[in-house]
Amino acid sequence: MIMGDQFGQYNVWLVSLSFAVAVLSAFTSLRIASRLHDSKGNDRIIWICLGSLTLGAGIWSMHFVAMLAYDSNMLITYDPLFMSISILLSITSSAIAFYVISLEIYKTSTHLVVSSLIGMGIISMHYIGMAAMQMPATITYNTGLVSLSVGIAFIASYTALKLFLSYAQTASGKWRLWTSSFVMGVAISGMHYTGMAAASFNGKSVAPLPQIRPGIGQATLGYIVVGGVLLIMTFTVIMIKYQTRIEASNHRFHIMNRMHRSIIESANDAVITADHDGNILSWNKAAERIFGYQENEVIEQSLQKIMPADFRDAHQNGIERYRASQKKRVIGQTVELEGLHKSGRTFPIELSLSTVDDGENEYFTGIVRDITERIESQKRIEELVYRDDLTHLPNRRMLHEHLSSCIEQAIAHSHPIAVMFLDLDRFKHINDVFGHRVGDELLKEVARRTQSCLAKKDLLARQSGDEFVVVLPHTSEFQVGNVAKEIIKVNSDPFLFETLELYTSTSIGISIYPEDGTSAATLLKHADTAMYEAKKEGGSQYSYFTNEINHVISRKMLLETGLRKAIERDELEVYYQPQVNVTTQKILGFEALVRWNHPTLGLVPPNEFIPLAEEANLIIPMGEWILRASCFQFKKWLEEDKTLKHISVNISALQFRQPKFPEVVKDILRETNLEASYLELELTESIVQEHERAIPIMHRLKKMGVKLSLDDFGTGYSSLSYLKDFPLDTLKIDKSFTQAIHESSKDKAVVDTIVHMALQLGLNVIAEGIETTDQLDRIIESNCHEYQGYLCSPPLPQHQIEENFIKQKVNLS
Ligand code: C2E
Ligand code: MG
Ligand code: MG
Repeated sequence: MIMGDQFGQYNVWLVSLSFAVAVLSAFTSLRIASRLHDSKGNDRIIWICLGSLTLGAGIWSMHFVAMLAYDSNMLITYDPLFMSISILLSITSSAIAFYVISLEIYKTSTHLVVSSLIGMGIISMHYIGMAAMQMPATITYNTGLVSLSVGIAFIASYTALKLFLSYAQTASGKWRLWTSSFVMGVAISGMHYTGMAAASFNGKSVAPLPQIRPGIGQATLGYIVVGGVLLIMTFTVIMIKYQTRIEASNHRFHIMNRMHRSIIESANDAVITADHDGNILSWNKAAERIFGYQENEVIEQSLQKIMPADFRDAHQNGIERYRASQKKRVIGQTVELEGLHKSGRTFPIELSLSTVDDGENEYFTGIVRDITERIESQKRIEELVYRDDLTHLPNRRMLHEHLSSCIEQAIAHSHPIAVMFLDLDRFKHINDVFGHRVGDELLKEVARRTQSCLAKKDLLARQSGDEFVVVLPHTSEFQVGNVAKEIIKVNSDPFLFETLELYTSTSIGISIYPEDGTSAATLLKHADTAMYEAKKEGGSQYSYFTNEINHVISRKMLLETGLRKAIERDELEVYYQPQVNVTTQKILGFEALVRWNHPTLGLVPPNEFIPLAEEANLIIPMGEWILRASCFQFKKWLEEDKTLKHISVNISALQFRQPKFPEVVKDILRETNLEASYLELELTESIVQEHERAIPIMHRLKKMGVKLSLDDFGTGYSSLSYLKDFPLDTLKIDKSFTQAIHESSKDKAVVDTIVHMALQLGLNVIAEGIETTDQLDRIIESNCHEYQGYLCSPPLPQHQIEENFIKQKVNLS
């Protein structure tokens, strides 16, 4: 036995074990400390208790294992009371440490106070543990080493607390955990062994040896301590592992939940969940924005709150159908509906619906998008594509689509459809005279008035310009006639624009499905054709399409379309009709009369296509061509027969009105090398009616040497008194007077008067349309100079004129 020896014998294994117990308890406590950070309420208390127990028991066990390691060669037993106090102190100081950790206070001053308390606990535990020893020796302490052990206790406590706190905060990195545990192990063991070094066991003390009381034996104590501590630690580690796993999965769940929540909250679309009965369970921020209700205003309330009244029944039925159906299907499709805002305003929404089943109940999730802007821009696009800018009526594109779909329905249900083609009479005139602004206002008003005559099922569209089309499904010929009458009536009332009072009238053509056509294009074309007929009959009336009208109009349209190309394709041909001296029967000249050799319609007379050429402004180039061809031809004939006096060429009013007309004539004469005196221009009465404009031009032409004649005299409205003012050479009496001259004394008297007056004015007179010798005799009696007519010859093509007249004459002479 080594007595009085300050440094007894240490068992290396047990010393190592004591150190291992210190490190392991530090390790386990650190793990527990890290749990504190995330736990709350009861969990937190449990972890504090477990931590205090583990650390307290660890420090205490370390102490007693270290005591076992010290071989003092004495029989030592321990006083259970002191032992209990020492263990209590160890656990209490650990509890203080864990409590502070749980408060998550990071102030150094607090840490110093707390670590002092812990240090005191450990020191007390150590020295009370020493006092618990019952042995045949007394212990004396070296003050210096005791102070060092106290210092180490405080520093160890402070370091341990800091390590605990830093690990509790981060709980990351294995190496960090082990390093911390090692440092703490060293600190706890260091304090113990310094304390032990401060103690001297003295058996030969002057003081009587304390009587050895019965107590817990060293070996038993060793087993209890190591076994108990290992058990606590194993149990704690298992718990930590289990808890960590649960918490990891809870954490994942929590994170996922938070992620979903944040996605839903930041979504632009409303995300609404509802239960099986249609009661709202969740409501995100976008839903608040879109519907105007805060979450607390709608939770647990029926979805009907955000549905317009019209949709509620359908929604209820939908839910009931869904409940009743056996084969429940996740809805999943997207539908366009209407939503109801808190303010009472309804707006278009797009809803995507899905269902979730938790085994017992079913939940609905609706993603709702406010599509007001999309619908509005769709409307704007539709407006641009399908509406007319001025009247906002459907345009031609929409008309075609609508009419085509009406026809499809009519095929299925075999009911008639009427198409009305409306055209304003004299609209061009109003536009020209009063300007486009007035014209536009008139069109808008016509659209309004016409619409007022129609039923909801009817469609009024603007075709173009002043043309409108009405489609009337489910109608009869009689009904449509009444509607047409009504439209004509409302549009015949005066239109008032500022100070203006304007009048217009409407011509309407009607075609009926299926009789007049089975396609939109045909029905429209035929209604248009019928409208032309109404116009031809004087306007302000309606007419139904018939095949006869069709024939006439189709021919007209065919002529109109072919006319533009007629000159280019060389389809025009000039015919010539001789003009004969009534007394000598000598051919004095020819009248040039144009013909059109139409590729499909054959020879078209000028009365039919000249007005069309005038409408299309084609008469100018056409008239020039005729004038050039006639002058050219006459020059040739003149070379063969010098006795010929003139070539007469008909001039249209439009041609004559051209400011450059005299120059055009001059150029042609120069080109064809024909002397001006041979050319006679036939003017119509409509030309001379505009006498102020006409007279100067006539003078210019006269100055050039060109002769002028007034054609079809007597058919127009020109006053006889004007005649004297015109520089004319010839008067042509219209065939309407000469045709019955041999039968009607009145006609004879008119012709006599005209000739008499013309002679007075020094004019040459030609009678037109002389077909018989009787007629010829009468005009001879009337002192007419020349005649034209079938009696001598109809108008003939150039080669026949040459054969019949020029060559013969040449041969005769
Ligand atoms: P217009 O100048 O009065 O021509 C006389 C018309 O009477 C011609 O008709 C001619 O064929 C027809 N005619 C001649 N003799 C008789 C007869 O004995 N009995 C009957 N019933 N008719 C007779 P066309 O050639 O059909 O011309 C019709 C009108 O077309 C012309 O009337 C003229 O106003 C116009 N026209 C013809 N060619 C031209 C032209 O090159 N330029 C212009 N601007 N108008 C033309
Ligand atoms: Mg003529
Ligand atoms: Mg004539």
